[in-house]
Amino acid sequence: MSDPFALLAVTTLLSVMMLAIVWSLRRCGQPGVRLWWQANLTAMAALVLFTLRGRIPDVLSIVAANAALAWGLVLFHAGIARFCGRQPPWRAMIAGTLALVAGIVTWRYVFDDFNTRVVFVSAFHATLCACAGYVLVRYRPRGRPASHHLTTAGFAFFLSAAHALRGVLSALSVMDHPATMTSPGLNAAFLVLGALALPGLTMGAVLMLHDAMVRQLEAVANTDFLTGVMSRKAFEHEAARELARAGRGGHPPQLLIVDIDHFKAVNDTFGHAAGDAVLVEFARLAAASLRLPDRIGRMGGEEFVVLLPASTLEAARHAAERIRSLAEDSRVSGPFGTVRYTVSGGYAAWQPGESLAQLTARADTALYLAKLSGRNRVLAHAPAAANVPVELASSHR
Ligand code: GH3
Ligand code: MG
Ligand code: MG
Repeated sequence: MSDPFALLAVTTLLSVMMLAIVWSLRRCGQPGVRLWWQANLTAMAALVLFTLRGRIPDVLSIVAANAALAWGLVLFHAGIARFCGRQPPWRAMIAGTLALVAGIVTWRYVFDDFNTRVVFVSAFHATLCACAGYVLVRYRPRGRPASHHLTTAGFAFFLSAAHALRGVLSALSVMDHPATMTSPGLNAAFLVLGALALPGLTMGAVLMLHDAMVRQLEAVANTDFLTGVMSRKAFEHEAARELARAGRGGHPPQLLIVDIDHFKAVNDTFGHAAGDAVLVEFARLAAASLRLPDRIGRMGGEEFVVLLPASTLEAARHAAERIRSLAEDSRVSGPFGTVRYTVSGGYAAWQPGESLAQLTARADTALYLAKLSGRNRVLAHAPAAANVPVELASSHR
């Protein structure tokens, strides 16, 4: 591995592979992917030029190659900034690249000093890698594990330190020209590191992309796309966890089912768009009226379900009554006119040993009675009435 040309050839191949992986992710919709793809393409061109050192003019194998590698890193950093929701610092990065190219041209064609050129290149790469690491740490996702961000940042900081060390050693003239290889150990170590830099960073970027895509899919699956409240699946998952927690003691959770009254008539009179607008507005009102730990989901159609963890039947009554009265006072306006609507609700307190399906059936029974007794009201399902037939409870739909 001490032959720098073999190493450069291997790196070029690595870059081609990373390019293929990033290309396959170009339509994933995440910011930064296009820049990462361009970064790898630019770096690959740079590596080809480096590999041809001695066979092509120095203006290509030294000046253009270093400029392309620097620009590849600039594009990579810009991709990181975009991915983290920041504006890339284009002006500073362009100025830095131009300064680097000016330094390389001067110390090739005016003074021709390899060590000084390495100092310039190392300073540039050390700075950009440190910036990339900083952005990844500073703007890592909060409230969920950020291991991919931190691992990539760690690698960026490591590269930055290695480039800085290389710069210092070159400034002290400890390093030799890689082609002469009079200190092959150090040179080979830095070459290997340089070879792994962009593929390694790109690998980190791919892991972060996968993480972001999984989170996005989870959010889509867990959210009702019309109203933005929890999907039925996500609600049931959370509610089952809450019931399991309640089994270990404390105040019991309360379950409330709310159904919009005569919703079919809203659709028939004002149109489907009006019905959708009512659903969106009602979900917004109801969600805004809840406490932080409470959960609201859409069971389907115009039926919503609310879980009040560690609560009392009295608190559930207040919450249900608040939602009912907010709906009654609500006006939904649009091109279809102004729609008024009411809701009915049924709620029940969880009893030890009860499953989510059983609790839901009891709240549903209370809802059914609320509908039967005139709508626009909320009723509790008292445990004493727990033997109301479930077929009856669900027969109103
Ligand atoms: P009740 O007071 O007994 O609850 O009567 P209802 O008319 O509200 O209930 P019903 O079950 O008869 O009708 C529900 C309607 O909700 C029928 C269906 O077309 C409509 N619906 C279901 N999902 C949506 C939706 O996403 N958007 C709109 N606009 N309408 C929906
Ligand atoms: Mg209804
Ligand atoms: Mg219904």
